Amino acid sequence: MATGSCPGCHFYEGRNKFLKRWISIFTAFLLLFPLAGCADTMELPKAERAFLAMNTYMTFTAYGEQAEAALEASEQLIQKIESLWSVTDEGSEIYRANHSGGQSISVSEETAELIVFALEMAQKTGGALEPTLYPVLTAWGFTTDSKQIPSQEQITELLQNVDYSRIRLEQAILTVPNGMQLDLGAVGKGYAADLAMEVLKEHGIESAILSLGGNIQAIGSRPDGSDWRLGIRAPWEDGNLGVLEISDAAVVTSGGYENYFEDQAGNVYWHILDPSTGCPADSGLQSVTIIGKEGKLCDALSTALFVMGAEKAEAYWRENSNFDMLMVTDQHEIILTEGIADRFSLRDGRTETIRVLKK
Ligand code: ADP
Ligand code: MG
Repeated sequence: MATGSCPGCHFYEGRNKFLKRWISIFTAFLLLFPLAGCADTMELPKAERAFLAMNTYMTFTAYGEQAEAALEASEQLIQKIESLWSVTDEGSEIYRANHSGGQSISVSEETAELIVFALEMAQKTGGALEPTLYPVLTAWGFTTDSKQIPSQEQITELLQNVDYSRIRLEQAILTVPNGMQLDLGAVGKGYAADLAMEVLKEHGIESAILSLGGNIQAIGSRPDGSDWRLGIRAPWEDGNLGVLEISDAAVVTSGGYENYFEDQAGNVYWHILDPSTGCPADSGLQSVTIIGKEGKLCDALSTALFVMGAEKAEAYWRENSNFDMLMVTDQHEIILTEGIADRFSLRDGRTETIRVLKK
């Protein structure tokens, strides 16, 4: 059990042996990734590109006459968006708002739209998604390479300046109160993927798959008409739990193993925090994958439902019918919603139990 300043958080001991192997290179890689075997059988030209943006490794693949130009334009869009939403880049709109000493600043249409969405999702998830949590994440060192356990006093003090309802946005005029920080990290990649999709569609692309770290976004199906096949990571070890087959969908995962550290006793502290405690979410879940039409919704929910835990996530799903989900628990149970029950198959030899939620 975790000790010290964060008594509410309980983590597995002994997971470190498995987890250590993943620390460096795989954290930068894909949580979900298109499995090998994508058919290139059609005549359609294929274009691919890989680049680093928004603190992650992105790979884009598109099929179509204008595939190359489409990917060029979508990469440019991602770079532009990063320059608007970065919390650390001094020129970004979010940075300027966070360092304005409480003054209002005008922001672009894209930024305004994402903030409206993030605030709405914060409200709908009862604050499980908390776009002003950044100072607490910084105290834990998750925004840098020097991760640490902050004192309870420090967490308590920082939480006084965490409250999404104090962010003001009227038209495109944003006000972040002095001492507070707005961070769109938990939803930004999802919305960036939505915008990139629009660019691809404007170029006539009907088959494409984008991977932005743990976020996958697909237009249509593979060129031969079959579904895209995505590997779902086993959170506690190297390898996949199984395969999810999808078309025309966004698939976003939040997993505890993506960014974490351990203390000397082997307790694990990950980068998704419960805003009610300021400590790593300890909800009994190890990963949450959301499947839906919109990347921004999937991204917001993957983080928020991870914080809420399986029971509250199920209740949220029953009240909101615009997504499906796959949750992996501490007990190695896989919980699926009915809409994707026949789209997920456990890998041969896997013994995890699967529970399907039906409405
Ligand atoms: P990632 O962006 O790492 O792929 P997520 O979409 O789950 O994964 O977002 C996690 C990021 O969001 C963290 O790195 C942190 O910056 C921020 N974050 C952590 N906990 C919360 C939370 N409860 N609400 C909003 N943002 C959070
Ligand atoms: Mg997210």
